[in-house]
Amino acid sequence: MKRRAATGAKLLPMRWRKSYEPAPTTPELALAPDYMDPVRAWRLWEVEPLDAAPRLRSLYRFSFWPVGAPLEARCEAQRLRLPRRPRHAAPTEMCTCGIYGAPFELIRRKLAIDGGLPPGCLFVMGTVSLWGEVLECERGWRAARAYPSRLFVPLGFPGAAEQAVGLQDYGVPVELVDTHNLVDALDHVAELAA
Ligand SMILES: [Zn+2]
Repeated sequence: MKRRAATGAKLLPMRWRKSYEPAPTTPELALAPDYMDPVRAWRLWEVEPLDAAPRLRSLYRFSFWPVGAPLEARCEAQRLRLPRRPRHAAPTEMCTCGIYGAPFELIRRKLAIDGGLPPGCLFVMGTVSLWGEVLECERGWRAARAYPSRLFVPLGFPGAAEQAVGLQDYGVPVELVDTHNLVDALDHVAELAA
């Protein structure tokens, strides 16, 4: 499936439209049918090599984000032996599955509380398009499909510049941020999220 978000085409303006709100009526945005108008959220990723190429990996789970195709949500309730839940497509209301994205300020608050992330790994931040079934949750949104739409790589991490080159395989803008840690980097990109 060819996605607008995967082509590196011009980004949509940053918006926090909730999935159940009416579609925007400005002429420019009305050109795209509503199902092509993804929710745009923010995320953090870890970068890890996969077949020697740097790839985005979800934090806290071993799930690599494919290049040129959406990451598809899968419920892991069964695998994790959570209390019995009927098999279902992700996300669904009575579960916690789905691909997460959050408003920018929520990610910034979380990093401030946790004091950043463990040292030694390369973490990147960026915007992500969420589509298909998208549910609101206390941490932002849970979606059926997702693809990064813009990546910010803090240069202070070892090998960051080389990794950023590899991340261009995703076909979305990859920008270097000249700072050591993610909290500073978030300050740098804060104006983009305003
Ligand atoms: Zn589930």
